[in-house]
Amino acid sequence: MALTAFTRPGRFWRGNLHTHSNLSDGALEPAEVCRRYKAEGYDFIALTDHFIGLYGYPVADTLPFRDKTFTTLLGAELHSGAMQNGELWHILAVGLPADFAPADAPHFRPVEGQETGPEIAARAVAAGAFVAVAHPQWSGLTLADARSIEAAHAVEIYNHGCATGCDRADGFSIADLLLSEGRKLSLIATDDAHFTEPDHFGGWVMVKAEENTPEALLAALKDGAFYSTEGPELRGVELGDSAVTVESSAAASVILQGHGSAAVAAHGESLTRTEVPLARFANSPWLRVTVIDRAGKRAWSNPIWL
Ligand SMILES: [Zn+2]
Ligand SMILES: [Zn+2]
Repeated sequence: MALTAFTRPGRFWRGNLHTHSNLSDGALEPAEVCRRYKAEGYDFIALTDHFIGLYGYPVADTLPFRDKTFTTLLGAELHSGAMQNGELWHILAVGLPADFAPADAPHFRPVEGQETGPEIAARAVAAGAFVAVAHPQWSGLTLADARSIEAAHAVEIYNHGCATGCDRADGFSIADLLLSEGRKLSLIATDDAHFTEPDHFGGWVMVKAEENTPEALLAALKDGAFYSTEGPELRGVELGDSAVTVESSAAASVILQGHGSAAVAAHGESLTRTEVPLARFANSPWLRVTVIDRAGKRAWSNPIWL
C-alpha cells in the first residue's frame, strides 16, 4: 500500500496555501504577492486575507494573476468565535466561493453572538473549501479547541511566519493527538506570508494532480494527495509487511512517527531509498514520515492508516 500522493496519476505542483496581501494586514498588493511566488518557482498560491469587517471581508480576486504556468485558489483566513483562551479563532479556508457570506466578525476580538469557530469552519466546508486549523501553537490552541473543529480537513503543522516571527511554528503536537483519536486529517506546511518580515518561501505543499487548475488542486487537497516540505522531495512512501520504504531526495535522516512515543529513525549518508522497520508501530493506528536533509530542512508525509 502506498500513499495516494505517490500512486495517483499526474505530477506534483508546488503551492503556498496561506498568504496575506494589503487587502488585510500584508505589506504587498495582491499582484505583487502573486508575481513573487511565481518568480520563486511556485505553481500556485492561495491568497488568504483576514476575513473580518475591518478589511471588508475580503476574498481576494486573484483571477487576473492566473496564466498558463501559474494559478490561484480563492481563499481567506476565517475568524469568528473564541478559543478557550478567549482569543479569536484563525481558520484557513482554501477554495472558497468569491461571494462567501461575511461573518459577524468586525475585528480581531471575539464579539457576543457571532458564529463559533466550528460553525464558520463547517460553513466553509459546505461552500466547497479545503479547511485547515491554522497555526495551533501560535494560537495557544488546546486539544479541546482542536477537537471542536470537526469539519477540518487538515492541521497546519508548519507555519513559516510563526517560525520567523515568534518561534512557534509547530502544529504536530495537536495533530498527532487528533490522529490518535482517529481523526482522518492531513497535514499542511504554509508560509502565512505578510512580507513584513522574512516570512515567505519557507514551507509549502506539493500537490499531485493531472493539471494545474484550481479544481484539480482542490480535489487533490481534499483527497490528501500531497506532502509538505521546506525543500526536500518525497518521491514515494510504501507500506510493506514489516517496513516502510521511503524514496526521497538526498536525506540525512528518515523518521517514522506514530501514536504516543512510537518513533523510529534511520540515519545515513545521501539516503534516497530508505527502509524503516514497522515493529515499533504495532500499537499505533497511524504513522507519518519526516525526511530531513543535510541542511536540516524537512519534508512531511500525510498520515498512513495501519
Ligand atoms: Zn492567523
Ligand atoms: Zn495568516
